[in-house]
Amino acid sequence: METLEGTTALVTGGSRGIGRAVCLRLANDGAKIILHYHSNRAAAEEAAAAIGREVRLVRADLGSIDEIEAMFGELGPLKLDFLINNAGIWKGTPMGSTTAAVAGQIIDTNLKGPFWVTQCALPLLKDGGRIVNVSSVAGRIGVAGGRSLYGATKAAIDALTRNWALELAPRKILVNAVAPGYVTTDMTSDYFSDPAIFENALRRHPLGRLTAPEDVAEVVAFLCSEGARYVTGQSINVSGGSVI
Ligand code: NAD
Repeated sequence: METLEGTTALVTGGSRGIGRAVCLRLANDGAKIILHYHSNRAAAEEAAAAIGREVRLVRADLGSIDEIEAMFGELGPLKLDFLINNAGIWKGTPMGSTTAAVAGQIIDTNLKGPFWVTQCALPLLKDGGRIVNVSSVAGRIGVAGGRSLYGATKAAIDALTRNWALELAPRKILVNAVAPGYVTTDMTSDYFSDPAIFENALRRHPLGRLTAPEDVAEVVAFLCSEGARYVTGQSINVSGGSVI
């Protein structure tokens, strides 16, 4: 297996779900992990213990530009090989009853946050480094259920991915995205507690199961690997054939 020994990865939202799986996967290849978390220090410490090697924890609400800048101030001078923009929220925004507060929270966390994190990370990111954004198939297809703004932020993530790939090509920084289908994490646990919804989702997955966080982490690891050296500006579905 290829080694990422001597490399450093910053993973946002690394304490649980997909982010945690990405931290474990990259650390398994030898990367030093800077694990960003939002508010649950205990979960971040548990993830760090599971990683079992040197991990640095940093906290910020990525919906706040001030907190993002403070986090990078706290990180100080360091060199990054990989930036994984994973943190995000999935909230309903039904037309006619969505509040400005919820709309703002989704845009701030899912769009402005990764934009600002990346802007702050760029001076630290080595030439030839990698950025992997966690998008969603919801940015590529219509999904019933009143979550249009979520889908719009993820479509925007794909647009950032393509544009940054071009903008950062002179520095040989590769920028790609992974677009998971339904993943069984805290984000979807309430939703899938309804057996009818779960069964319906399952029926739409030709491979017979929903996406696991580890499925996504594998593709992130590939995009960070030498094997992906000529891949940039792409969003790769990790959805078990549910969206093609
Ligand atoms: P999750 O809820 O388990 O994890 C989300 C992470 O984002 C958590 O670590 C959380 O602390 C962090 N986060 C949320 N709001 C934040 C804020 N304001 N500031 C800082 N951090 C914040 O869900 P997950 O499924 O692991 O989601 C990870 C990513 O995958 C998200 O971007 C999500 O949109 C995307 N995604 C998830 C699914 C799915 O079905 N679960 C599908 C497609 C895409």
